Amino acid sequence: MTAQATTERDLTVVIGLEVHVQLETETKIFCGCSTALADAEPNTHTCPVCLGLPGALPVVNEAAVESAVKLGKAIDAGIPEETRFHRKNYYYPDLPKDFQITQYDAPLCQDGELEIRVEGERREIGIERAHLEEDPGSLQHEGGSIETADYTLVNYNRAGVPLMEIVTRPDFRGPKETRAFLAKLEEVLEYLGIFDSTRDGSLRVDANVSLVPGEEVARDGSIGEEALAAANRTEVKNISSHKGAEKALAYEVTRQRNAIRRGRGIDQETRHWDESRGITVSMRSKEEEKDYRYFREADLPVLRVSDWKQEIEIPELPDARRERFREQYGLGEEAAAKLTSTKQVADFYEDLASDFDPDLAATWVADDLLGELNYRDMEIAEMEGRLDEVRRLVELVAEEEITAKNARETVLREMLDSGTDPDAVVEAEGLGKTDESEVEAAVGEAIEENPDAVADVERGEDGAINFLVGQVMGKTGGSADPGTVNELLRERLG
Ligand code: ADP
Ligand code: ZN
Ligand code: MG
Repeated sequence: MTAQATTERDLTVVIGLEVHVQLETETKIFCGCSTALADAEPNTHTCPVCLGLPGALPVVNEAAVESAVKLGKAIDAGIPEETRFHRKNYYYPDLPKDFQITQYDAPLCQDGELEIRVEGERREIGIERAHLEEDPGSLQHEGGSIETADYTLVNYNRAGVPLMEIVTRPDFRGPKETRAFLAKLEEVLEYLGIFDSTRDGSLRVDANVSLVPGEEVARDGSIGEEALAAANRTEVKNISSHKGAEKALAYEVTRQRNAIRRGRGIDQETRHWDESRGITVSMRSKEEEKDYRYFREADLPVLRVSDWKQEIEIPELPDARRERFREQYGLGEEAAAKLTSTKQVADFYEDLASDFDPDLAATWVADDLLGELNYRDMEIAEMEGRLDEVRRLVELVAEEEITAKNARETVLREMLDSGTDPDAVVEAEGLGKTDESEVEAAVGEAIEENPDAVADVERGEDGAINFLVGQVMGKTGGSADPGTVNELLRERLG
């Protein structure tokens, strides 16, 4: 029975992803052209190799291969003795050679996996393969979209930028899981130091979706190869973010369900995710492998990484680091997760925890710093050059030069909003802790001015003490330590 013949009620969502990520190398994958393209004039980062001029010969970039091996190790993939490159032939103006150099029957990484967590539950997502390939150039449609533009310009700066295509098994059972997977994948890639998520176009996703009859799904959630092959699926292209993936897939699942409910079948086709309209639209019937006439890239030798791969080391990965943080610093699950969310955050936390109380450091990084950054829609990467200032602020708190409340609510916010350094804010706002005698004087005044509250405290109404603490804090401009004030008041009032 095919998915089409079943009622839409007992259909299981099946999704597999093909993810393209840009590898962070200084030069392109088969030539010496620089990949620093951010402010480059069009067609200035090109040479005979990446323009595909006759007679030009590609040479594989060692750093790109090394990055691919690192990814392979991180996802526990098999890395074969020998891998090869193939030509994938098709005509499109962004592809100057009329073929793309990619890997076909011997990809660098085979049969890996990545663990994700969805709503507290662990899921293992199989990774069928991950291979190296070159990016094509880019087209710029002037004065409109591809259909309405007056003319189109082509820029070959991107042609030859190294990509890794990561193909998952059809292991996702809903759109939400794909979002968790993409976040996890990016996290791992960034930990490996081979990927920059802030770079434009660094992540591109094609998502395959089908609805499989419920009776084909085994108890453990697995689905037989035959049923997977029998289900008509669509491939949604043009997804460029985690959120985009979840939205595009949610739309596509609903569209397929509706089509089946109305007795229409699902066409095996390629669809385009239109982000601004929030819909997928049909592009063309799906290409078959034979359409690409793959054949060996004879200009590149067989690639042997078997000896070399032993020497390539990878750093501690996020899951392992999270576990270690919990044990070594006694952190809760949530704090450990926040503190390992990016390698930069984790490195900064460990740097602070080595000099200050690990709990204080955890509060400062996980709650205060990340909280304030999040509120401003900022990433920790934007604080790169200023982490020393945050460190100084934590030091001021640790040495009790200022109160935690002032540090958080005044100094940190001022630092982020106006770019001032912490000592300057403390000075300008007069936040240095008031000395003992001043606090004592303020306590005396508060007692004198508030006989009613004093009487309440003496009658044993504990809440009234908080009112008096507030009065003293007000008199000292918030610079006294509330704990100390509380003690002083209790001493004075017996
Ligand atoms: P193709 O012939 O389209 O290249 P592949 O077998 O290489 O097909 O799979 C491409 C992607 O489609 C993979 O990510 C895979 O997980 C996914 N896929 C395979 N079968 C299904 C299915 N029934 N539903 C959804 N995705 C699927
Ligand atoms: Zn080049
Ligand atoms: Mg395929």
